[in-house]
Amino acid sequence: MTAQTRTRKPVTPRKASKPTPALNVKTSSTITAKVPTLTVRDMPTHLGVCDWCGATPALITPDAPTFAECPKCRIFRLLTDAATADLEALIHPVISAWAQQYESTGLSRTDVADLLDLYVGQHLSDSGRLVRWLTDVQAQHPIPTYQDVPTARVTLDVTQLRRIERIGAAVPDRGIPRPYFLDTNGQVVSIGCGLDTITLMQPNGDAVIIYTGIHGGSNTTHQQESLYVPAHLLEQVQAELTSRDGSRA
Ligand SMILES: [Zn+2]
Repeated sequence: MTAQTRTRKPVTPRKASKPTPALNVKTSSTITAKVPTLTVRDMPTHLGVCDWCGATPALITPDAPTFAECPKCRIFRLLTDAATADLEALIHPVISAWAQQYESTGLSRTDVADLLDLYVGQHLSDSGRLVRWLTDVQAQHPIPTYQDVPTARVTLDVTQLRRIERIGAAVPDRGIPRPYFLDTNGQVVSIGCGLDTITLMQPNGDAVIIYTGIHGGSNTTHQQESLYVPAHLLEQVQAELTSRDGSRA
């Protein structure tokens, strides 16, 4: 929803108050900014009277050149826009699945729209708005189809895994806040902090670390390369792995 489509009660503009600088910007001691006092009529084109509450000065909004918002109303509008976007993202897929389920049982779209109308208590269906809305929502959120995939059979050859060779110390002053690890080719190895892992201990004390997902669930977007970790670096690698445990990384 944009600023132009909102319908808030217009408010009679208040008397312009003397504007004060919002930021305490340091300037050269030889420059003293004189704060101008202008009438609403003399305001520069990028300032105006807030179209929501009538306060001045209000900044012309870049996305709606004829619309001005004061800081307070700008924050309120951005918050309500975010709340609306979140609500849409949360409920549209659910409404879509529910409507498709019951339309497939034989109820018509109008029947389903009537139920929705009753449920939300708005009785908007007279104008056909809910039927159109249901059509749009279902077009945007079709129920996924599912297909069988073959069972995964993974064979790991531990001698072929990327092997951590050494550790570099943290140097916070130079922008290296934590220790880092290098592989046999001297390349930095990214450690999947906060990810779920299986650690397979080897008879000689080395370990193989296999990433399995995040927050206890498998998640292909967090798949990382398995690593071979020599025994003398295992403690530091595990400390790095768990460094973000407790934060929802
Ligand atoms: Zn305002």
